[in-house]
Amino acid sequence: MTKKIAVLPGDGIGPEIITEALKVLYFLNTDMNLGLEFEHGLIGGCAYDVYGTPFPETTLALAKAADAILFGAVGGVKWESLDIALRPEKGLLGLRSELQLFANLRPAKLFPQLAHASTLKPEVVAGLDIMIVRELTGGIYFGQPRGIRLLANNERQGFNTLVYSESEIERIAHCAFKIAQQRQSKLCSVDKANVLESTELWREVMITVSHHYPDVQLSHLYVDNAAMQLVRAPTQFDVIVTTNMFGDILSDTAAMLTGSIGMLPSASLDANNKGMYEPIHGSAPDIAGKGIANPLATILSAAMLLRYSLAMLPAAERIEQAVASVLDAHLRTQDIYSEGMQKVSTQAMGDAVLAQLQKGE
Ligand code: NAD
Repeated sequence: MTKKIAVLPGDGIGPEIITEALKVLYFLNTDMNLGLEFEHGLIGGCAYDVYGTPFPETTLALAKAADAILFGAVGGVKWESLDIALRPEKGLLGLRSELQLFANLRPAKLFPQLAHASTLKPEVVAGLDIMIVRELTGGIYFGQPRGIRLLANNERQGFNTLVYSESEIERIAHCAFKIAQQRQSKLCSVDKANVLESTELWREVMITVSHHYPDVQLSHLYVDNAAMQLVRAPTQFDVIVTTNMFGDILSDTAAMLTGSIGMLPSASLDANNKGMYEPIHGSAPDIAGKGIANPLATILSAAMLLRYSLAMLPAAERIEQAVASVLDAHLRTQDIYSEGMQKVSTQAMGDAVLAQLQKGE
């Protein structure tokens, strides 16, 4: 059965890194007879230049019809002065909300070859392999009422609402438990149940849902302790599930434990595991067109796409193994370069991953 992949390279380094990820996918598609079909679309600044909107109807239709979406990055100086509704980032946010991508998966995995790149001691991060599952479409970022109001004493007051319904918590819980089952079967739910009623409910629902997954060991941490543990002893974690705002903060902390923004993939999934896959970094206008961007985060995003939306685990593992082999061979793009290594371009890094796959490794 064919599977449709919508390819949305976007702006800046987006097209450069997507080109390298596609090399890998095209090869595996033929080599493993995966039945993938690819269709390209415009999103972000490049879409604005052609259609006058960062999120054209044709792109939405393409994304809706696809089984999974491979996304580069959007944004750039050229579009920064546009009205906020027309800025490139609106395309990304539009996709997330139109497709109801409520589960954001952010792995923070340390490749042992890059242990020195972390700001933590190598022995603290050795073996680090965490998956953060962040609720992406609810919580305080979307809760109503919100705004800035004028009080009777003429002072302005800003306010937001932290709100979670049981069904919103249930669906992210199921998603996180299923992911834990595919890993070390350890799930840590992060909340602030001692202070916030909405996360008291979060904890209750997590416990209720856990009864469907007796093979997964569920634990709970308050967010302040979780932040501390992430930098004290990060390898204690397997999967972390948390709210939109806590996940926003903790996933960036976890990402930095691995040292490089150019190495980290991500996924945003809907209730049926349809997803959008993208590197965690942006369009890096400062290095666009120079051929020095690291394509590995995007190549690893392609591996996540195969794993989570298409359940093609052997193909995903081949990509991950090929990336590890390339690092073993001391190839480094500029962002992860250190003395004694071989500095390579974006294209050369993609070619090296492809060559590993062609060797059958
Ligand atoms: P950024 O992630 O684009 O860049 C931050 C720094 O990391 C830069 O120095 C950049 O050169 C470097 N970097 C990023 N990716 C790299 C890679 N693959 N290889 C090597 N180095 C890399 O963040 P920023 O500079 O804050 O934002 C630039 C633009 O990207 C803005 O327009 C912003 O709105 C947009 N943005 C888009 C997304 C997205 O599309 N998902 C996410 C974040 C930012």
